[in-house]
Amino acid sequence: MRSVAVFLGAKKVRNPAYKAAAVELGQLLASKEITLVYGGSNTGLMGSIADAALAANGKVIGVSVDALADNEAPHPQLTELHITANMHERKSKMAKLADGFISMAGGIGTLEEFFEVYTWARLGFHQKPVALLNTNHYFDHMLQFLDHAKREGFVDLHAHNQIIVDEDPGSLLTKMLRRA
Ligand code: AMP
Repeated sequence: MRSVAVFLGAKKVRNPAYKAAAVELGQLLASKEITLVYGGSNTGLMGSIADAALAANGKVIGVSVDALADNEAPHPQLTELHITANMHERKSKMAKLADGFISMAGGIGTLEEFFEVYTWARLGFHQKPVALLNTNHYFDHMLQFLDHAKREGFVDLHAHNQIIVDEDPGSLLTKMLRRA
């Protein structure tokens, strides 16, 4: 796994645990010489992970979207910055550049990105590992909901069979490297 796309929130939040996890993940990727691919923004957890990876001499590729489609400023110090015409192009570019996917705490944008790469995995469009960094048990309710969907018969496989989940960035990355 030479590169990982990380989907995470663009908003500033109060609980410092999320920023700490983003920083730890950014540092870890840099130390393992894994390129960070992310949405290119300078704000919230997105800014924190990019700052941490760059400070640790990591390679960071931002895939942002034309200013008209988004109001987030791109990070000014990225190794590479790609500007796409719209959100669809942004996600497909990130998916092409990445050998695996990690979603961590975030809002609707992050959830949408997670479910897209997860459905693509289920449909067999890619064999890349799909992981959730479950900082502060952020995704517990979503995982419980997926169990509910399985019980009701709308989903055929337990989410845990296909999604790698861990609260610790280091353990999560180790599991992904084993699966990749
Ligand atoms: P959020 O998790 O809502 O803070 O958003 C995280 C990132 O996802 C931000 O850079 C958003 O611009 C981006 N985003 C929001 N909606 C979409 C979408 N439909 N497709 C791709 N990226 C999105």
